[in-house]
Amino acid sequence: MSYDKDNIFAKILRGEIPCDKVYEDDQILAFNDIGPQAPVHVLVIPKGAYVSQDDFNANASDAEIAGLWRAVSKIAGELGVAEPGYRTIQNTGSDGGQEVPHFHVHICGGRKLGRMIAP
Ligand code: AMP
Repeated sequence: MSYDKDNIFAKILRGEIPCDKVYEDDQILAFNDIGPQAPVHVLVIPKGAYVSQDDFNANASDAEIAGLWRAVSKIAGELGVAEPGYRTIQNTGSDGGQEVPHFHVHICGGRKLGRMIAP
């Protein structure tokens, strides 16, 4: 699947539509999910154009990959969910429930999240 430069997160990265930003560095942007599924629900995205987790893992540089995952833990700490805990979700493709074709990590927390996968 080729990258769709008109996906909603690409538009957020270009500043064409707003987001509720919680963190930014040279490689990463993080913002509150517009439809939160938990008291804390933040999306962490690379600034590079990657369709999915698989695209990111295959084609991003080691620095981009390390930067993203270090940012996830940093953001979880800043959001106050590192303790008592949180969940990261990377939906991939159709069966995985991925709606936006720009790789993103969901950080969800702020309450007990229950079972891993909804029925
Ligand atoms: P996924 O199903 O993993 O692709 O998740 C996409 C997420 O993006 C959903 O949780 C949406 O609520 C969220 N979302 C869609 N549009 C926006 C937006 N403009 N700002 C923030 N979050 C968004």
